[in-house]
Amino acid sequence: MPEFDFDLFVIGGGSGGVRAARIAASHGARVAIAEDYRLGGTCVIRGCVPKKLLVYGASFAEDLKDAKRFGWDVPDCRFDWPHLRDEVQAEVARLEDLYRDTLATRGVRIFQQRAGLLDPHTVELADGSRHGAKIILVATGARPVLPTFPGADLGVSSNEVFHFKAVPKRMVIAGGGYIANEFAGIFNSFGSKVTMVLRGGEILRRYDAAVRDRLMEISRSKGIDFRFDTKFEGVDQEPDGTLAIRTTDGRTLKADCLLFALGRRPNSAGLGLEKLGVALAKSGAIVVDADSRTNVPSIFAVGDVTDRVQLTPVAIREGHAFADTQFGNLPHRVDYDCIPSAVYSHPPIAAVGLTEAEAREKHGMVNVYTADFRPMKNVLAQRDERALYKMVTDGVTGQVLGLHMIGPDAPEILQAAAVAVKAKLTKAQFDETVALHPTMSEELVLMR
Ligand code: NDP
Repeated sequence: MPEFDFDLFVIGGGSGGVRAARIAASHGARVAIAEDYRLGGTCVIRGCVPKKLLVYGASFAEDLKDAKRFGWDVPDCRFDWPHLRDEVQAEVARLEDLYRDTLATRGVRIFQQRAGLLDPHTVELADGSRHGAKIILVATGARPVLPTFPGADLGVSSNEVFHFKAVPKRMVIAGGGYIANEFAGIFNSFGSKVTMVLRGGEILRRYDAAVRDRLMEISRSKGIDFRFDTKFEGVDQEPDGTLAIRTTDGRTLKADCLLFALGRRPNSAGLGLEKLGVALAKSGAIVVDADSRTNVPSIFAVGDVTDRVQLTPVAIREGHAFADTQFGNLPHRVDYDCIPSAVYSHPPIAAVGLTEAEAREKHGMVNVYTADFRPMKNVLAQRDERALYKMVTDGVTGQVLGLHMIGPDAPEILQAAAVAVKAKLTKAQFDETVALHPTMSEELVLMR
């Protein structure tokens, strides 16, 4: 008889947990996974996937207008939000089923309920059943930060956006990060009057200043309003449902929806971690080493609950490395250097490596090259919107330290360029590559 019911018990069926469970099972481990909501986690159920589908849906607003400039006879179009919302949810359900099938075909036992830790080798489920495991992996993700000012409960988080009954006519978005800018672009395209309220003076603080400024300029030209250095005092609901949002600048914003996009906090509470002495950071993040192991040797954690880099592909790599190392005799670790990222704003931003400010601080002498251009399609469409690509190189070696882009398809273009940046290629090596004409991406090898 084996000592434990399972070799691995995963708590949380999101990107990191599912990958770890699947790979561990493929290495022959006896694996169980518990998820109290829907398999797939934030990315599949209420994050990257449905959001990207809404971004596609929103992009038609401009495409349909542009089409007329390209000779198409486009009748006046009407946008049907419930149609898109339901199609997106159907796709989410399809993906959730795929996740379930993938786990089941690899023999992973799925418990559709909440789980907690009783001791370093025992998981207790909501139904009271207890399961012993040689190793327990916590992959419970993160949840939206919600503020506590009076009336804040009248606001919603990104979780609720995907289920809106209707497109809000007036939308106030709190925050200026990923989620705020992405939903501002989406709902502005669907016809909402969007106002972004930020506590500071900058959007997307971790991105290069030049692309941030370009996004703000374009967002403003599309009708998105920004209120900087502004905090909330309270919200009241008027008899017709309108939200009266009082801010510290003494104004009252009227809106149909208040969306909080103020960051995400690790889901580490209520799992019994403190009782077992598992070290937690002030943010609630589970503290782990480079192998995703906590200070309790049989307990590991991956993904957003560890708050290393809150991105799906990183959680997937962490889960994969953990499973290969612990169950496949294939030890390896995640390399966090040069992780590309994107903001699916309108237009999108994509970046890899150091911003100009970071490069100057770290390397001293740097060179900066830019391509500031109006994409060919925008010219014929009579759209003034300009794209901006920026390359930051080491002043001595010419190595590309960072690449920052805003413009149509920037994330699609940057993924390929990120390979070159990760491989530490130089600007000269970029320039040795013949341009692929006519494209937007050719600007990458033509920057001055
Ligand atoms: P972000 O960290 O991107 O942005 C948070 C925003 O909220 C910032 O503007 C921040 O301001 C502001 N903020 C934080 N706390 C407060 C507060 N107490 N009062 C007022 N403002 C506050 O978080 P998001 O919620 O947008 O996204 C969460 C995470 O999810 C991201 O960090 C990212 O890792 C991931 N994500 C990734 C996406 C992608 O890859 N495309 C898309 C969506 C989410 P300040 O700048 O002043 O700190």
